[in-house]
Amino acid sequence: MRNDSNLRKKNQQKMVAQNNRIAALKKLLVYYKEITETIREPFIILDKDLHVVTANLAFYRKFKVLKRDTEGRHMYELGDNQWDAPELKELLEHILPKQRILKDYEITLDFPRLGRKTMLLNARQVDSKQLILLAVEDITAQRMLKIDSDKLTIDLTNQRDQLQGLNDAKDEFISLASHQLRTPATSVKQYVGMLTHGYSGEVSKDQMSMLNIVYKSNERQLEIIEDLLRVAKVDAGKVYLEKVSYDLVLQVEAIIRDQAILFKNRGQSVLFDKSSKPILVYIDPKLMLMVLNNLLDNAGKYSQIGAQITITIEQDDNDTIISIKDNGVGIRKSDLEKLFKKFSRIDNPLSASVKGTGLGLYWAKKIVDLHKGSIEVISKLNKGSTFIIKTPIDAEKLPKLVVAPLK
Ligand code: ADP
Repeated sequence: MRNDSNLRKKNQQKMVAQNNRIAALKKLLVYYKEITETIREPFIILDKDLHVVTANLAFYRKFKVLKRDTEGRHMYELGDNQWDAPELKELLEHILPKQRILKDYEITLDFPRLGRKTMLLNARQVDSKQLILLAVEDITAQRMLKIDSDKLTIDLTNQRDQLQGLNDAKDEFISLASHQLRTPATSVKQYVGMLTHGYSGEVSKDQMSMLNIVYKSNERQLEIIEDLLRVAKVDAGKVYLEKVSYDLVLQVEAIIRDQAILFKNRGQSVLFDKSSKPILVYIDPKLMLMVLNNLLDNAGKYSQIGAQITITIEQDDNDTIISIKDNGVGIRKSDLEKLFKKFSRIDNPLSASVKGTGLGLYWAKKIVDLHKGSIEVISKLNKGSTFIIKTPIDAEKLPKLVVAPLK
């Protein structure tokens, strides 16, 4: 008797415990449901056998299933077995039981009705593995975007490579053509020279003036060819600096002397605001000579008759600074950025009468860049321009003694 009543008591206790457990679970479910509904991403709660306990509105909407066809059904059966996929099975039946948590697992499923979808799954077993909370984020659009942008990047890279190839071919063509043109043009120069010097008999006044025109045109032709070859060489990375240390003051004086006749013919003057002391630099003298020649030539070309050009050189703790200032036609603000581009000739009142290729400044900048220096312009239309070159001082390479003039 006593045993019977004990057994009954125990059973009753078990029943109460089970009922309490069911009540607790139900409470928990209500709690989960409330939370589930507040989540914007599709969310589903499964029992341990993967039957749907509930899902949120976002899940029904996204995967086009009805609540009544979902709750109580097996996950794989939903929407005409749309979810019956080996990848999902692997995740829910093997990986999740082992890890208890799935974090950002990406899967792509082909839904018969919805098409191909890429989703990010986050899942967690809760309540002593009795329930599975599963969040399903649809990232199809992001993935498509990524595929598109990856494709775009590849296309752009290919296009860039193609353009680079075309550009290299163009540079090579210019270089080859210029080389080919140089020989016959030089030969014209020699023969015109011979004719004007009377090697094949006396030349009449008319013939001489015609020959002079041929000579000048030929000179111009050779100048253009040299410009093209110079630019092709620097573009191909074949210009190597041969730096030495020397006194820049002496070099600038030599340049001014060289161009003196040109300036005199235009009634222009060059003022060299020079320091009394030598200014020692460690740069490539031949290349710097050509850069300065070019800037001084431009200053004269793009200034009116009678104008004055001022050259200053100075050194601060870090740089040697060379300024070439004119009060010529100036450059529009909007044109400044074109200045150092290849073949850019900018319209100004003198550009029609002045010859040029638009290659000088491009080449000069490349040379200054090779010296790790900078070249900049301050200019005002109709007021004039100042070109400023800065090259870093390499103090260790500078000798204590002044070197002979360089030209
Ligand atoms: P080029 O003189 O052979 O045309 P450059 O590259 O030396 O080529 O110069 C490019 C353009 O910059 C010139 O066509 C001219 O319009 C402008 N420019 C250069 N120097 C000056 C200057 N000192 N004043 C005004 N414009 C200038």
